[in-house]
Amino acid sequence: MRYGIFSDIHANLEALGAVLNELEKADVDEMICLGDVVGYGPNPNECVALVKEKVKVCLAGNHDVAPLGGLDVQYFNYVARKAIEWTAKELTEESKVFLRALPMTQAYETFFIVHATPLQPEKWSYILSMGDAEDNFEGFTQQTCFVGHSHSAWCVEKSEDGRLEGREQYPILLNDGARYLINVGSVGQPRDRNPDAAFGIFDVENKTYEVRRVPYDIPVTQKKILKAGLPELLAERLALGQ
Ligand code: ZN
Repeated sequence: MRYGIFSDIHANLEALGAVLNELEKADVDEMICLGDVVGYGPNPNECVALVKEKVKVCLAGNHDVAPLGGLDVQYFNYVARKAIEWTAKELTEESKVFLRALPMTQAYETFFIVHATPLQPEKWSYILSMGDAEDNFEGFTQQTCFVGHSHSAWCVEKSEDGRLEGREQYPILLNDGARYLINVGSVGQPRDRNPDAAFGIFDVENKTYEVRRVPYDIPVTQKKILKAGLPELLAERLALGQ
């Protein structure tokens, strides 16, 4: 079984299209989305429709629940808040029904998926340090947990003796005795200084995981963001990957 796993689309239709295209070429068996289908970007309904059509399991992200009133907007900074208010007005009833039904987590035999953290999914905390990662290995029992939320692709390995180490050479061969916490990065708003859309391919039988990047037409998305009257910063940051 080969899974295409991605997260944080953020209503960026051009980035989502590029990722789906790559995953179709890679001939994965199933696609999984770890949440934040909407928010920040100019095409929330189009992205919801594509995810609905192509993705087997989609989780809820904080930007999916916020425009439905599921999370206090005061929790967000000014730019995010503006985008959430815009998204709330833009979403069709059909999109809202889809977003409202998204689960917070899902457990598979060998892996677990969640948008923010396995330890406290509903708190929407970030895993930003080795200390955060260490705590979060307590939040799942499977070998591997895939997360999104911070928009940076990374992989932390916890070896049998409990040592934590960042793995940067892809593809990664998953060792039987070790456990893994993996951030698949962001499709529609990468913040790891690489503007290309990110996604992961997880091969269960071959025990490999790799993160891939694909360029997309950033100027088209930027123009749409400005035309929609969304904050300029949201357009600028796409080209910078931060
Ligand atoms: Zn996000």
